[in-house]
Amino acid sequence: MEHIRENLEDVKSNINSVCSKIGKNADDVLLVAVSKTIDEEIVNKSIEYGVTDIGENKVQEITRKFENIKAGVKWHLIGHLQRNKVKYIIDKVCMIHSVDSFRLAEEIDKKAKDHDLVMDILIQVNVAMEESKFGIGLGDLDGLLEEISTLKNVRVMGLMTIAPFELNPEDVRKYFKKLKNKFDSLSTMEYDNIRMKYLSMGMTNDYMVAIEEGANIVRVGTGIYGARNYNK
Ligand SMILES: *Cc1c(COP(=O)(O)O)cnc(C)c1O
Repeated sequence: MEHIRENLEDVKSNINSVCSKIGKNADDVLLVAVSKTIDEEIVNKSIEYGVTDIGENKVQEITRKFENIKAGVKWHLIGHLQRNKVKYIIDKVCMIHSVDSFRLAEEIDKKAKDHDLVMDILIQVNVAMEESKFGIGLGDLDGLLEEISTLKNVRVMGLMTIAPFELNPEDVRKYFKKLKNKFDSLSTMEYDNIRMKYLSMGMTNDYMVAIEEGANIVRVGTGIYGARNYNK
């Protein structure tokens, strides 16, 4: 599993060089290692090599792996979440990146309350308005935030987006820019439970461009663990 150690070092050194190029502290960029489809043994190795945060996109995969993954690592839910599954992960993840409706936020609030905790969430924005992707449109964001501001057991910590896949990551820079502008304009919002701290954007193909445009969480799977095999 030496290649995983090397991949991780490469990703971190890329993050370091982009950060020094734009005058940002690399410690201010959180690397979430996306471990979907990856075996527990390999995920645990990567944690030994320095991974602190892992991202999964399926509830079943989190519940299946949870007991077998080293304690102390932080779990992020980064994929679409159905309301009836919130109860399975509410006490397992540190942040849900994929909230895109009030009904979902409300259910998270309810289950968080049952567990006497406050759940950190990000609002997923479909900046490019792709039919195939979840997330709300930029135009609906203010209204959603206003609704969520009434909830006591969720805390909005920022925004998340998945850019369209383009061979050339330069082609998605415009979407990252757009979301960063919105993120900045929302930073003056004065609701107790809304704080624009995290901008989660950038995956293996485009995380360097995303950091240049202001991302402070990047979600990297393939770049660390190699290509995924969905047929196993
Ligand atoms: C799979 C996934 C990633 C990581 O994708 P890679 O291209 O393998 O880095 C990031 N974010 C989300 C939401 C994902 O589902």
